[in-house]
Amino acid sequence: MASSSVRAPRIVLLPSAGMGHLAPFGRLAAALSSSAHACDVSLVTFLPTASSAESAHLESLFAALPAVRRIDVRLPPLDTSDFAGADPFYAHYEAARRATPLLLPPLLAAAHADALVADISLASVAVPLARELHLPCYVFFTASATMFSFYAYFPTYLDAAGNGDADVPGVGRVPRSWFPQALHDRGNLFTQQFLANGRSLPRADGLLVNSFDALEPEAVAALQSGTVVPGFPPVFTVGPLTPVTREPSAEEVPANYTTWLDAQPERSVVYVSFGSRKALAPEQLGELAGGLEASGFRFLWVVKGAVVDRDDGADLGELLGEGFLERVQGRGMVTKAWVEQGDVLKHPAVGLFLSHCGWNSLTEAVASGVPVLAWPRFADQRVNAGVVARAGAGAWAEAWSWEGEEGVVKAEEIAETVRSVMADETLRTKAATVRDAAARAVAGGGTSYRSLAELVRRCATVIYSP
Ligand code: UDP
Repeated sequence: MASSSVRAPRIVLLPSAGMGHLAPFGRLAAALSSSAHACDVSLVTFLPTASSAESAHLESLFAALPAVRRIDVRLPPLDTSDFAGADPFYAHYEAARRATPLLLPPLLAAAHADALVADISLASVAVPLARELHLPCYVFFTASATMFSFYAYFPTYLDAAGNGDADVPGVGRVPRSWFPQALHDRGNLFTQQFLANGRSLPRADGLLVNSFDALEPEAVAALQSGTVVPGFPPVFTVGPLTPVTREPSAEEVPANYTTWLDAQPERSVVYVSFGSRKALAPEQLGELAGGLEASGFRFLWVVKGAVVDRDDGADLGELLGEGFLERVQGRGMVTKAWVEQGDVLKHPAVGLFLSHCGWNSLTEAVASGVPVLAWPRFADQRVNAGVVARAGAGAWAEAWSWEGEEGVVKAEEIAETVRSVMADETLRTKAATVRDAAARAVAGGGTSYRSLAELVRRCATVIYSP
């Protein structure tokens, strides 16, 4: 018979580079260590980070979650000559992938880990390593369940010499034009990682996804039933994970957007952000500026001038064109500083989110009930845009180009679309319905709450085994 134990399960979290991966891991750390789930949590941090947003986030995250242990792993310098010109975040994934088998085992032993939860981008090294160490290994997929089904199915698609749209069993068609751009090149570093990670998934002990059953019922059911990949491990839907309330770190430049937002009428502001790791091309940036100006609406716009924030020295006035900031003064707030997006989206003045459809941004919009105008630009974002549009929480301007495609979306079209989506009461009502479903999922007894509790129960079972 199993002996009982009062010890909390010790879970080590292994995130990857970029805010889109780090933020949900911080949220997972908060949820697992909360009084509801009472786990002993350690969070690995790979140093140096890829961006200063990550360093600042880590500093304030650990200050906000004193019970979560920090395990620093200093990455050896990576010889990037094999993949010159690769996206710096993908190069960071690769550095972490190469370092993990060597550097992680002693840290896991020192932490007396009962389970490892690894980021999807490290799955192909973390899963076999954990097996060798006889440690249960869970993989956390930080985008939508629909994207996860595509990710898991992609090796099968390629093995069958797929070269058109992908028909993901039980989920539906993913048009080739929605594939992350890098996947059109078999030799690309990202494609190699994507394939290796996808192939490793069936050997994981379980898989986590930051979504909830009611948002993507088909994808969740198809993953859980083994329809996408036969013999797939258990899938735990744990979202939308709640942002951690944290004080800005000393490194973060405080922006004055809060005072400005407080002074705006309810639901009058279009919040515009394309995430933490991509910059629009200068011509497109200019058209967007013109579109926001011509829309006539108030707007809060977070502008990025470079892929990695440390390289972003561009001046806002130069980026947006002469006279723009003066013309929109009072009506438009433009910043290059980090904003607390979770708080912005909860602010009553915000009526629409023009978003690149990074999955964290979409989960935050969904949890806040703010309708999305989806303008995916890169990677998994078209698949994510499809999810939010299908759920009725957003409108997707599907014809708008993304990175690598010809065609600049013109200011007049942006203005007209913003006006029509801001006036769409049906969308607003539906977004509120989806928000309520999200709140039910994470509340005690909800699908995501129960799913996380089941994950914790499984981790605890390892301690209780005879
Ligand atoms: N974010 C933020 N403030 C900013 C820019 C981004 O809080 O000024 C957060 C955003 O709320 C989200 C994360 O950074 O949690 C970005 O992740 P997402 O998956 O949306 O997109 P990515 O940046 O990975 O493309």
